[in-house]
Amino acid sequence: MPSSPSYTKKKTKIKYCWIPGHAGIPGNENSDKAAKNSNATRETFVPLSDALQAVKFSQHRIWQRIWDGQTSNKLYNIQPSIKGFGNLATRKHDIILTRLRVGHTFLTRRHLLCSDPAPICNMCNCILPVKHILCTCKNFYTQRQAHFGAHIVDLIDILGANPNVNAFSFLSEV
Ligand SMILES: [Zn+2]
Repeated sequence: MPSSPSYTKKKTKIKYCWIPGHAGIPGNENSDKAAKNSNATRETFVPLSDALQAVKFSQHRIWQRIWDGQTSNKLYNIQPSIKGFGNLATRKHDIILTRLRVGHTFLTRRHLLCSDPAPICNMCNCILPVKHILCTCKNFYTQRQAHFGAHIVDLIDILGANPNVNAFSFLSEV
């Protein structure tokens, strides 16, 4: 191929010449195609970790919507979010807290094992669930005032995601 005209400027000689492109060379044509396909793939590619995160968020939204419909469930009052509870420092306290949250304690559920009548609060003359003991029973006004600062408290304030630090001392006393 003949070279382009030359230009001289301050004793510097520059030559322009035409260099053939990739057109018509099979190896280069294939290389160009592969490069274009690579870009197309990269533009639509979603990393697996991002896809899993999106699925997880979507699933949590669905579960939360279902859980929000369970307003008559006693656990919903303690934990309205599906995020779950954190763990306490000691396993023993975790176990006690979980049993209180689900309302399955020996005091309140023993009658089911023994086929006895449900325990009754002698002061209030009502059945004795965990919520009654912790939140409203007149027998424990003084202890509740001392440990929680009020005669009557909400269950979520004692057993919620951030359990009251005085819950175990209150239980020990009552
Ligand atoms: Zn009572």
